[in-house]
Amino acid sequence: MSLNLISNSRNSLDIFREKDVCSTCNTGSVSNSCDKCGDGVCGHTHCHWSFPYKNNTNYILCVGCFNRIEKKLINYDHLLIYNFLKKHTIIQRRVSI
Ligand SMILES: [Zn+2]
Ligand SMILES: [Zn+2]
Repeated sequence: MSLNLISNSRNSLDIFREKDVCSTCNTGSVSNSCDKCGDGVCGHTHCHWSFPYKNNTNYILCVGCFNRIEKKLINYDHLLIYNFLKKHTIIQRRVSI
């Protein structure tokens, strides 16, 4: 009886792990992974941030990590992202004026 219960719960855990869904919206299928925490994110623009990074690659951040970085800029990578955002915001302002 107790053995059956244990194997059942393990099976349901495996099923849950195989279902690779976006950690932000919990519905989209994973197309990228956050470069900071490794969580899977879908391609939806509201679920991840992507920044131009070294060697023509993109730095992907999930929304959770992005919000944390926005509050607390602690290292060079974060500063890089912050400067990019600042520039981006200035450009957007110029366009709207
Ligand atoms: Zn998503
Ligand atoms: Zn993350």
